Amino acid sequence: MKVMKFGGTSVGTIESLLNLKNIVDAELKPVLVVVSAMGGFTNQLLAMCEQAQQRDISCLDTLEAARKRHHDAIDGVVVESMRKQVHATIDRFFDESLKPYYLALATNPHMPVDEIERVCDAIVAHGEILSSAIVTGMFDDGVPHLSLNLMRTMPDGSGRTLDWEETERLVKAEFSSIDKGVHVAQGFISRDTQSGAVTNLGRGGSDYTAAILASLLDAEALEIWTDVDGFMTADPRTHPDATVIPQMTYEQAQKMCDAGAKVIYPPTIAPVAMKQIPVWVKNTFNPSAPGTLIVD
Ligand code: ADP
Ligand code: ASP
Ligand code: MG
Repeated sequence: MKVMKFGGTSVGTIESLLNLKNIVDAELKPVLVVVSAMGGFTNQLLAMCEQAQQRDISCLDTLEAARKRHHDAIDGVVVESMRKQVHATIDRFFDESLKPYYLALATNPHMPVDEIERVCDAIVAHGEILSSAIVTGMFDDGVPHLSLNLMRTMPDGSGRTLDWEETERLVKAEFSSIDKGVHVAQGFISRDTQSGAVTNLGRGGSDYTAAILASLLDAEALEIWTDVDGFMTADPRTHPDATVIPQMTYEQAQKMCDAGAKVIYPPTIAPVAMKQIPVWVKNTFNPSAPGTLIVD
């Protein structure tokens, strides 16, 4: 089975979601699709957290605009038979979860700092929860999985690290008997092993989720679908003369990621290198471009 990760721009518009559908439809099933939040939405969720803490209720207007963006995407891409259900799911998360969380931040001036962090972590997880509901609904044979039930983190000195043992146990149990379908899971989001609180793997962490799943499931390949033609000699946004690197080693990729090549989140390489799983970096907006192959 392949693991295919689609980043924020790849799930950000109706056009890109339809590209995703074509790309996944061409695959042999089962396939595991890992998605990011719709492009820019994670930043928005966090900015609204700041606003709410400043008692700036205008964040609720931004929230309504985001709700509309998700509903528009559903109308554009979700299969007819699933549309009503996905609309209702999205509304439920906005009405029963996001809105109350923002109101709690805005109206509770004495909320302790660790409680604020807990609420903001829970809020930011909604980016991937919402986008994955849409992507699952695009496929007649879409099967949802909840990364909050699969990925486990534990506190370390400076932040959070993956609890490999517990994650392995949960992932292997979840996927032990799948034999067909388009399986969809959220990138980025996780839970603390001990407290069960919602956590995440750090900004850009959806790549890492996909690599962890690929490694634990001995996937035949990990594909990182993004908005550039492959891993390039430099960031094409700042270096228009950058060119695609057709093939590189895990070591070379790791060095470039550590040096700031944002195309792959740095912790992504190790889990797939360990199992020698080939990694492809491909362009959702130009799927016929050869992309970059990262191997031993
Ligand atoms: P996604 O949302 O798909 O995860 P990201 O924005 O995280 O996408 O990563 C893709 C972006 O990484 C590209 O749009 C590009 O501007 C940037 N980037 C930085 N360095 C490189 C590089 N060496 N090769 C390709 N893209 C790079
Ligand atoms: N949505 C998260 C972020 O914007 C994770 C990701 O896209 O990889 O950082
Ligand atoms: Mg990324």
